[in-house]
Amino acid sequence: MIASQRLPLISLYWDVEQQARTSDVLKEIVTHSADETIAFGRTLIDLLSPPKLVLLRGDLGAGKTTLVKGIAAAFDAAAEEDVTSPTFTLIHEYRGPRANLYHIDLYRVDTQRELETLGLDDLRADNSILLIEWGEKFPRITRQREVEILLEREEEERRRIRIWA
Ligand code: ADP
Ligand code: MG
Repeated sequence: MIASQRLPLISLYWDVEQQARTSDVLKEIVTHSADETIAFGRTLIDLLSPPKLVLLRGDLGAGKTTLVKGIAAAFDAAAEEDVTSPTFTLIHEYRGPRANLYHIDLYRVDTQRELETLGLDDLRADNSILLIEWGEKFPRITRQREVEILLEREEEERRRIRIWA
């Protein structure tokens, strides 16, 4: 009885998730170390050619920031070791010859008003790539996203990474 009452809720949730991603998975990989995730990030240079708004999804420690190390290195915008989490500063900017990368972490941003003070709209430009962690907290950002990257921790060092575009 309880199970059958819950079923519609589960399928509704599933529908919402599916609608958020209108297309099939474009890329899927399983990595076994942070270095492998960085190497995969480096391969995304063409897929992420600017302008782009990219949603990076996944739990804390899934590897979102680690992936950005590879992306920033590929664009010659920063050395891997110089890419750190923008948890407290909220936005890190890395300027490269082909693109300006903005690595944004909205984990600590809770209200629409706080989001607006960040002025993300002003960062959007022909040569900019916005890489946003926890952007799915805000429907306005989810609606604008052109690429979505989901990282899932399967084991201590095993991550499944899927990309929709
Ligand atoms: P997030 O930004 O999603 O919170 P981070 O990239 O900051 O995650 O942290 C991921 C942590 O997991 C790092 O300490 C990293 O070394 C570790 N790690 C272990 N295996 C992997 C892997 N396959 N890919 C990415 N990170 C990994
Ligand atoms: Mg992070």
